[in-house]
Amino acid sequence: MRDLAPRGVVIENAYVVPVVGEEIPSGHVVVEDGLITSVGPGPAPVVPEGAERVDASGCLATPGLVNTHHHLYQWASQGVTPDGTLFEWLVASYRLWARMDAEVVSGAATAGLAWLALSGCTTSTDHHYVFPKGRGDLFEAEIEAARRVGLRFHPCRGSMDRGASQGGLPPDEVVEDVDEILRATDDAIRKYHDPSFGSMLRVAVAPCSPFSVSGELMTRSAELARSHGVRLHTHVAETADEDEHCREQFGVLPVEYLDRLGWLGPDVWLAHCVHLTDKDVRRFGETGTGTAHCPSSNGRLGAGIARISDLLAAGAPVGLGVDGAASSEMTPLAGEIRMAVLMQRARYGPRALTARQALEMATLGGARCLGREAEIGSLEPGKLADVALWRLGGFHAAIDDPVVAFAYGPTPPLARLLVGGRTVVDGGELRTVPGEEAARAGAAAHRRLTTMDHV
Ligand SMILES: [Zn+2]
Repeated sequence: MRDLAPRGVVIENAYVVPVVGEEIPSGHVVVEDGLITSVGPGPAPVVPEGAERVDASGCLATPGLVNTHHHLYQWASQGVTPDGTLFEWLVASYRLWARMDAEVVSGAATAGLAWLALSGCTTSTDHHYVFPKGRGDLFEAEIEAARRVGLRFHPCRGSMDRGASQGGLPPDEVVEDVDEILRATDDAIRKYHDPSFGSMLRVAVAPCSPFSVSGELMTRSAELARSHGVRLHTHVAETADEDEHCREQFGVLPVEYLDRLGWLGPDVWLAHCVHLTDKDVRRFGETGTGTAHCPSSNGRLGAGIARISDLLAAGAPVGLGVDGAASSEMTPLAGEIRMAVLMQRARYGPRALTARQALEMATLGGARCLGREAEIGSLEPGKLADVALWRLGGFHAAIDDPVVAFAYGPTPPLARLLVGGRTVVDGGELRTVPGEEAARAGAAAHRRLTTMDHV
C-alpha cells in the first residue's frame, strides 16, 4: 500500500480553485511537511525530494470541505419519524438517545466521519449534547473515532439542563445539572483542546439550544468558553414554533434573546438561523456571528429556507453543515453545496447564490465560522494541506465549467483527499479505516441503540 504521509505530494494538471485568488485551468499544488508550499499554473516549479507526484488530469482541486454542524451519534437513530415535525421527531428520538452509550457513539461517529471524508470533508465539527448517566465517556469515544478516520475535529461539548420534569422536552435521564455540565466541559477543554497552528482537535462549548436550556447555563457557558478562548455554538431560529416558545418564555425572539445573553460575537457560530428578522441579519454582520447553514436538514424537517444571501450581503460568516444523520439521512457534505444553491434560488430567484459562492461557503466560510481562516479553507502557500481532488471525467465531462459541474451535478468521485498532507481517501476509498468496517460499525451502533438488550 502507498505511504499515507510521504514528505510531500505534488498535484499537477488539475483545474485548481484556490477559493482565494484566480482559478487556474491547468495548475499545480505542492505539499510539503503538511503545508501547501506552492499553488500556480503549469507544472510544479520544485518537486520536494521523495514527494509523490499525482497526475490530476481531468480533476478539480478544491480546499477540503469544512462541516460546521453535525450530531454524529444520530447515525444510530436514522429513519426515526420520517414524516414528523421537529418536535415530534425530537420526542421520539430522545426515547432512543436516552439509551446511548460509548459503544454506540464510537460506531456512529466512525461511520459518520468516514462518510464525511468520502464526500470531501477534511474538518468537521460535532455537537454532542446527550449524556445519559453511567454510559461511559461519550466525548472521548467520538474523539477516538476522529483520530482513527483522520479528520480535523471540532467536537462541541453540548449540554441540556431542563428535563421533562422542569417543562423541557428531553426525558430527565439525559439532562445534567449546570455545575456538572460546566465541570465536565472545563475538563474536556483542558484535556483535549489544542489551540496551536495546524491543530487536529479543538473543543467548543455548546448548550443544545437557548429555548431548551436555562439562561444560567447559557450565560455560564459563555463565561467558561471565553475564559479558555474557545468558541461557542448552539442551535437557533430553526423553526417557526421556536419564535412562539421564545416569545412566551422570554418575551423576545430567539436571536434577540441570544444577543441579551452575550451570545452574538466573532467567537460564536450558530446552526440553522432560518427565521431571522432584518435586525437579526444586521446584528450577525455587525458582530461577526457565524451561521452553519444545513439546507438538507431544513428541507427534511420542513423548517424553512434560511436567508443566506442576505447574511452574506451583511458580511456575516456562513458555512455549510450536514446536521445529524437522523434529520438528513447520510447527506454528503459536497451535496449540501448543490442544495444551498437550489434552495436560495427557489426562495429568492436565480441570482440569489452562485456555484462559486456556495463552494466558498463549504470551504472558507466554514473556516471563518471555526476561527480557522488563517489555516484552512483555501489553497494558498502557508496554509495546511487540506485538499480535495474530484474526478470530473466521465459523465461530468459534458459540462465545460468544472465548478458548475461540481456544484450542480451529482457529487463527483473523490480521487484524493489530503488532511495536513496525509492521504485519507485515495481513488474513492478510505485509506485510514476501511470503508466496509466503518459502515459495519455504524450499522452495529444502530442495532445496539434500537434493541433493548443492553439497557
Ligand atoms: Zn443540529
